[in-house]
Amino acid sequence: MAIDQIDCVFCKIIEGELPAKLVHEDDQVIAFKDIHPKAEVHLLLVPRTHIASLEQLEIKHERLVSHLLLLLPDLAHQQGLQDGFRTIINTGRGGGQEVDHLHIHLLGGSQLPGF
Ligand code: 5GP
Repeated sequence: MAIDQIDCVFCKIIEGELPAKLVHEDDQVIAFKDIHPKAEVHLLLVPRTHIASLEQLEIKHERLVSHLLLLLPDLAHQQGLQDGFRTIINTGRGGGQEVDHLHIHLLGGSQLPGF
C-alpha cells in the first residue's frame, strides 16, 4: 500500500477497517452516507482506487469517471431525490477538500439554495 493510502480514511472504509453506512458498492466504486450531513441526503461517491483528487485523474481513468458520473442519477433516485440533486467535487485545500481521496458529494432532499 502506498504511503498516502495508509492514513486515508476512505481507503479504510473501502477496506472495511472503518464503519460506514454503505448505499452502493461495485467493483469500481462505493457510496456511503457522509458522517456530517449538510443536507437531508448527503452521500459520498468514492472510487475504490486511491486517487488523491480531480487533479490526479488521467486518461486511463476515463472509464471510471464515466461510471462515477452515470451512477449519480441512479443513486439520487434510489435515495428518493426525484426533484433534483446537487453534486460537488472539492479539489485541494483552496477548494475545501479535507479528505485526499477523490470523491463526489451528492446532496439533496430539501430545497437547496441557489449557488
Ligand atoms: P471534502 O471536504 O474532502 O470534500 O469532504 C470530505 C467529507 O468526508 C466531509 O463532508 C466529511 O464529513 C466526510 N467524512 C470525513 N470523514 C468521514 C468518515 O470517517 N466517514 C464518513 N462517512 N464521512 C466522512
